Amino acid sequence: MKIATLCVHAGHRPDALTGAVTVPIYATSTYAYTRFGEHRGWEYSRTANPTRTALEQAMAALEGGADACGFASGMAAIDAVTDLLQSGDHIVAGDDLYGGTHRLFTSVTERHGVAVTFVDATDPAAFRDAITRHTRLVFVETPTNPTMRLVDLAAIAEISHAHDALLAVDNTFLTPLLQQPLDLGADLVVHSTTKYLNGHSDGLGGVVVTGVPDLGERLHTIQNTAGAVIGPFDAYLVLRGLKTLAARMAAHESNAGRLAGVLAAAQGVSAVHYPGLATHPQHHLARSQQQGFGAMISFDLGSESRAAAFCDEVQVFTLAESLGGVESLVCHPASMTHAAVPEHTRCRLGITDGLVRLSVGIEDVDDLRDDIEQGLQAAARVS
Ligand code: PLP
Repeated sequence: MKIATLCVHAGHRPDALTGAVTVPIYATSTYAYTRFGEHRGWEYSRTANPTRTALEQAMAALEGGADACGFASGMAAIDAVTDLLQSGDHIVAGDDLYGGTHRLFTSVTERHGVAVTFVDATDPAAFRDAITRHTRLVFVETPTNPTMRLVDLAAIAEISHAHDALLAVDNTFLTPLLQQPLDLGADLVVHSTTKYLNGHSDGLGGVVVTGVPDLGERLHTIQNTAGAVIGPFDAYLVLRGLKTLAARMAAHESNAGRLAGVLAAAQGVSAVHYPGLATHPQHHLARSQQQGFGAMISFDLGSESRAAAFCDEVQVFTLAESLGGVESLVCHPASMTHAAVPEHTRCRLGITDGLVRLSVGIEDVDDLRDDIEQGLQAAARVS
């Protein structure tokens, strides 16, 4: 089946009791036993809940995996991946990650005795050089957030496996519609379902998908033991979002392509980071490992005061953290999503005080273009 068909149907089958075509929200914490020592396969909702199971089956099918686990947030999903490790193990991570992932690795994972080395995400040789005999996990995000650099997944998978390390990829920005990391050699894919998969900015969630059944079993044990599970209401919202994912991603991407062109031609914008632009340094890699370029764009206005003027001027773009909803959002990474990343690291990564990030929604592109032009004019009035 093609992926757009899977988006609508994977994980769904008519409800056994009523024939309902939509997976019901099983709002229950526990399940009646049929008799002493016998139950219907459902015991307690931390262990399994039918709405969550439907989402897990849908995500395993969409990513081409063997198993999936639903979590309370993207961060809970990433935390569960680190729980596969033990004290003394080592992680090599791309250096350009969501700020929360950076904070998890440096303030929680390292405290539990797992060392983390951050390397230039665009340079496979840097991963090879950083791997030690203790390295058990390589963790990357591609495109990176917010500078839209790409990680060569096939190359990093080969390096990781040559050293018996697992490769985990955060696929939140592109979704399985536009990138399938397991096909490129990854062992684990994580998502913040809060973003495109839900798509309507009305729920939090995360998921880990794996192509390795044994890893799936270990993750289900972590999920059941630590208990950071996605609830049935949030799981339902993601299932509902998945049905329109293909249509939404096409609209997001078409709008983003147009707006990236507008920004690239605008005065006062010193850099536009969007893999769909032929000028992007890794445009060829984007073409070969992705099925599309996504709808996240960042660009530099040269100073915090110009970035602030832009953010305060735009009307259709809402100034807010997060991304991937139908509505367009604007954010200032240095003071918002990446405020937890130390200043010297931000500088090195190009997360400057003038950098602005857009999550391009599905509104009419002419309104979005007009809004951006208003914002750029406001930025230009700042000396
Ligand atoms: N991964 C990426 C790429 C993100 O952008 C985010 C949040 O913005 C997360 C993970 C964390 O997800 P959540 O906010 O659902 O915990």
